Amino acid sequence: MNVVRTRRTLEEGQQAQLLAAIDRWLEREVKPVVKEHDHADRWPGKIVAQMQELGLFGATISAEYGGLGLPATTYAEIVMRISAVWMAITGIFNSHLMLALAIEKFGTEPQKRRWLPKLASGEIRGGLALTEPDAGTDLQAIRMTARREGGHYVINGTKTWISNGIEGSCFALLVKTDPKAEPRHKGMSLFIAPKQAGFRVGRKLEKLGYKAIDSAELIFEDYRISADHLIGEVEGQGFYQATGGLELGRINVAARGVGIAEGALRLATEYAQLRRTFGKPIAEHQAIALKLGEMVTRARAARLLTLDAAAAFDRAERCDMEAGMAKYFASEAALENSTESLRIHGAYGYSKEYDIERLYRDAPLTCIGEGTNEIQRLIIAKQWLKRSTMA
Ligand SMILES: Cc1cc2nc3c(=O)[nH]c(=O)nc-3n(C[C@H](O)[C@H](O)[C@H](O)COP(=O)(O)OP(=O)(O)OC[C@H]3O[C@@H](n4cnc5c(N)ncnc54)[C@H](O)[C@@H]3O)c2cc1C
Repeated sequence: MNVVRTRRTLEEGQQAQLLAAIDRWLEREVKPVVKEHDHADRWPGKIVAQMQELGLFGATISAEYGGLGLPATTYAEIVMRISAVWMAITGIFNSHLMLALAIEKFGTEPQKRRWLPKLASGEIRGGLALTEPDAGTDLQAIRMTARREGGHYVINGTKTWISNGIEGSCFALLVKTDPKAEPRHKGMSLFIAPKQAGFRVGRKLEKLGYKAIDSAELIFEDYRISADHLIGEVEGQGFYQATGGLELGRINVAARGVGIAEGALRLATEYAQLRRTFGKPIAEHQAIALKLGEMVTRARAARLLTLDAAAAFDRAERCDMEAGMAKYFASEAALENSTESLRIHGAYGYSKEYDIERLYRDAPLTCIGEGTNEIQRLIIAKQWLKRSTMA
């Protein structure tokens, strides 16, 4: 049985309690330090420890393996709330949970027992290592290889853009176990790769936004691991396993987009009521009111699409099209609302003293991660045509 897609719900009271705890933490601990960490591009150790205490590293891992076992709807609400303040820190547990998802969904029972409790507690933190210097969207073009030697595999190659690459200690690593296979995906496998001899960080990548979380190049040179690190212990399933978590992954990026869209709206609303020109608050000028009207509509639509996809996920329904639509729309909403909010702030929007410049720098990533928005529209159309033909 697919544990991760089993129908999940949470009592309304439990959800409210959890979200209230997140809100209190954001207010007391995160808001006061976000600007300093973002500008210094400094990894927020204290915040990570607090996220660990809140159970966020086990948010979507089943309770039987030590996680909170949250439904996708509650998880999305948490990601939205945090992203409205500081989107980058959601990447510290989002990418980690994609690693956990691959193990819980496709791993053997001994693999789940060995890895999931430590991932759920945050004792081990990590992420998903798919992208290579020459292969992003076209994942099947990766060059990293794993060669079987008795009871071990020897891995060589380079990954890039890997979130948590420096601070994390374990990654789901996509490789070619049969580089000559046709079709190409049949030669791909996914490994649980802890940091040890043969696995090193090449360099930290400097970015426009999404600061404080580390994005890195990872280098594998004769990295040797025992065969029980192969997820599911069957070769050739890696492409399917790596993309098998995309529905939840897209809901998660959509939720980040909603957070930024709502956060940017909130900042614009506050500012437009305070800032006065020509004898009245700028919110009362029609040009600004029109912007606010569009922004609030966009944020609301993004939220509803995201919760709709998450609810379908929780009902264990197929929701690749719904998750794709949510991801596409919410990330574009993030981009547009952060731009409009920055413009409403006038010169102060361009200043590093105001929060909107961070949201403006963070928003574009949501259009790239978990499938670029170009590809997203192709996926939506493909699914739509398939469903229309079947109907
Ligand atoms: C901050 C950050 C964090 C990241 N974290 C991770 C991580 O943790 N793990 C990981 O594995 N990766 C990560 N990535 C990588 C990310 O997943 C890739 O950047 C993404 O998949 C796109 O790949 P690419 O950059 O190689 O672009 P390319 O694939 O080279 O695409 C370039 C452009 O061409 C378009 N394009 C490509 N193919 C087509 C097509 N068939 N039809 C139409 N248009 C097309 C794309 O939409 C894009 O606009 C991260 C990236 C960033 C920026």
